[in-house]
Amino acid sequence: MTIPYGRQVISDQDLKAVRDVLKSDYLTQGPVVPAFEKAVSKEVSASFGVAVNSATSALHIACLAIDLGPGDILWTSPNSFIASANCALYCGANVDFVDIDSETYNLCPLKLEEKLAAAAAENRLPKIVMPVHMAGHSCDMERIAALGKKFGFKIIEDASHAIGASYAGMSVGCCAYSDITVFSFHPVKIITTAEGGMAMTNSPELAKRMRIFRTHGVTRDKADMEKTDEGEWFYEQHELGLNYRMTELQAALGLSQLGQLQSFVSKRQHLRHLYNKSNLRLLELNLPTDIARSTSSNHLFIIQLHLEKLSRSRKEIFQALRGRGIGVNVHYIPIYFQPYYQKLGFSRGLCPVAETYYERALSIPLSHAMSEEDLRRVVSIMSEEVV
Ligand SMILES: *Cc1c(COP(=O)(O)O)cnc(C)c1O
Repeated sequence: MTIPYGRQVISDQDLKAVRDVLKSDYLTQGPVVPAFEKAVSKEVSASFGVAVNSATSALHIACLAIDLGPGDILWTSPNSFIASANCALYCGANVDFVDIDSETYNLCPLKLEEKLAAAAAENRLPKIVMPVHMAGHSCDMERIAALGKKFGFKIIEDASHAIGASYAGMSVGCCAYSDITVFSFHPVKIITTAEGGMAMTNSPELAKRMRIFRTHGVTRDKADMEKTDEGEWFYEQHELGLNYRMTELQAALGLSQLGQLQSFVSKRQHLRHLYNKSNLRLLELNLPTDIARSTSSNHLFIIQLHLEKLSRSRKEIFQALRGRGIGVNVHYIPIYFQPYYQKLGFSRGLCPVAETYYERALSIPLSHAMSEEDLRRVVSIMSEEVV
């Protein structure tokens, strides 16, 4: 049996919640989606939540709501899933990357500031900066928000890893330092709806625009219509929107999972502490560092191999661990290494810290589905294979 790097846990209560919805009047566009939105908003102290069918969709409608379009630029971290950059391309905008910090693996505020100063001189400032909370550890949002004020960009947090995390004593998702924050509910993330995501905001205008983009660009609100006296059936399309709706089944699962968020996060925290105290400390690798003012949701447990002191390559270690049932993975290949981005003109060398990080990175199993015994097995096999 392989111990996967991440895995969901589905309880009997989750099953019942989904079954109840299946037997109800609505499979989509019913009462459970708004209930899930309200519950997540309350959990993270945001005013609004807009549930959609994936975090990728949430990032897309977040960009659309901010009017990102042709001629505009979005900056993000190269150390992320491709969706963090693709959302800008969907809007016809351009994308660029800001290198990461070697300790936190998050977008580096210092490099952001330098790049902004250079871009200001060339009149090529970004409209949106999208920090990604790598492995569930918040970026330094206070500094990024201060730069946002100075250079006039909007901020979308890609918090796909980070529901249940906190920063400066506040829940990630409260949008104290951003316009919009996006969560993912993919099964490897902290809580799941199978596929699903949510965009949080404190702005009524952005929430309304995201809701319109989620459903074909259509409004049924009389206050917004050009013709108001057609009849009750009437609706108007004002934007080129999409069908990104979340189903009632997904929302029911999400609502039920949300009730377990704190216990999932505590379990992950506990396992992280066990790893940190374990014999992994004796191996040629760096463990994740604690970051000031930030409590991680511990979505991933990423180590950095000291390759110069090891006889095996990262690939050999990866294969050996996989071969022995340890479901390791690598997060992330720098986005601009992808052939699609290379064709857009990005070249290797753009973000040297992210590139060196990538060569040494290995995600080892950490999830609320894991037992302490699983963890001991990971440590013991790693001690034999990381040589
Ligand atoms: C998982 C993930 C996404 C995409 O989430 P989906 O819900 O699968 O669309 C985006 N950004 C990051 C950083 C992710 O880890």
